[in-house]
Amino acid sequence: MEIKIKKAPLKNRKTKPTDETKLGFGKVFTDHFFNVKYKEGKGWYEPVIEPYRKLQLDPTAMCLHYAQEIFEGLKAYRGQDGAIYLFRPQENIKRMNSSAERLCMPTIDENLFMEAMKKLIILEKDWIPRGVGTSMYIRPTMIATEAALGVHPANEYLFFIVVGPVGAYYASGFAPTKMFVSEEYSRAVRGGIGHIKAAGNYAASLYASKIATGMGYTQVLWLDSSEKRYVEEVGTSNIFFVIGDELVTPHLGGSILPGVTRNSVIKLAKHLGIKVVERQISIDEVIAASKNGSLKESFASGTAAVVSPVGHIHFRGKEYAINGGKTGALAEKLYNEILQIQYGLKDDPFGWRVKILDGKKTAKK
Ligand SMILES: *Cc1c(COP(=O)(O)O)cnc(C)c1O
Repeated sequence: MEIKIKKAPLKNRKTKPTDETKLGFGKVFTDHFFNVKYKEGKGWYEPVIEPYRKLQLDPTAMCLHYAQEIFEGLKAYRGQDGAIYLFRPQENIKRMNSSAERLCMPTIDENLFMEAMKKLIILEKDWIPRGVGTSMYIRPTMIATEAALGVHPANEYLFFIVVGPVGAYYASGFAPTKMFVSEEYSRAVRGGIGHIKAAGNYAASLYASKIATGMGYTQVLWLDSSEKRYVEEVGTSNIFFVIGDELVTPHLGGSILPGVTRNSVIKLAKHLGIKVVERQISIDEVIAASKNGSLKESFASGTAAVVSPVGHIHFRGKEYAINGGKTGALAEKLYNEILQIQYGLKDDPFGWRVKILDGKKTAKK
């Protein structure tokens, strides 16, 4: 399927942000976006990159009522020589399709998905910031657009991709987070949709997050919903603990999002000779390890921050400091290693980096 490109007239183009330190996250989007429509019996049709615009939806578009809506999140990185890289994009494409299957939505052809990302990013390459740690965030999304009420899988969909420059997460150094363990609320259940990137999961998480942030915590550390005993994940990140000399992370039991960064951390840590264990880990074990000194570090992993050190955990009215509330050595090491692979600053022994544009063509003289 040929992707049509309709360029925005120059006079309609937005002014690009000039101060890369003020980009933040998710506020600025570029001049164009990709979209393709789907109709049952016809399949995907009319893939196009066109000027960024508002979507038109019928008030009964099914995504608005029954939440058939899924998304992905990944980034494009500009290397020192001007080359543009993606990091394990095939993993996001596969995860998008497994999300689609779970919500009875149509899957997307992997090649079309990849082509759409590449073409859009290359068209918008001047929007990719240059500073270390800055990048272009990519948000592929699929929504049910059929105009109908009544719960059933929709017969019409829209898949679109928007991109926008984002700032360095740690512009002023690592900032360890404070986690609030929620025993009252649940994010996801086994057999539910916690293992896919479905929009509804995030709506369900807001209430507990609001309580946690109101108490001065960064995010909620979720426990399993049936026993309220085993640690699952945080916000939009997976969680790791260094206990003794092992790196421990909750195993993917069906209610945890299989993060691309989580998988990269596991592979990289093993490569560095660290023992990594994926298993159930109870909050009682974490607290006991904190008390007896065997809990050395904790950090979260996700595309946005790569690795985010956890400085404190709040559980049942008490606050426990981890590594004195400071960033641990392993978190810092893994962060630097992954960042350098993403920006093309070092060898990529795993083949994770995908170059979508050669440096020489875009390098600044
Ligand atoms: C996106 C996400 C993650 C992290 O996934 P990455 O692929 O590493 O970005 C973890 N947990 C949840 C709930 C998420 O939505």
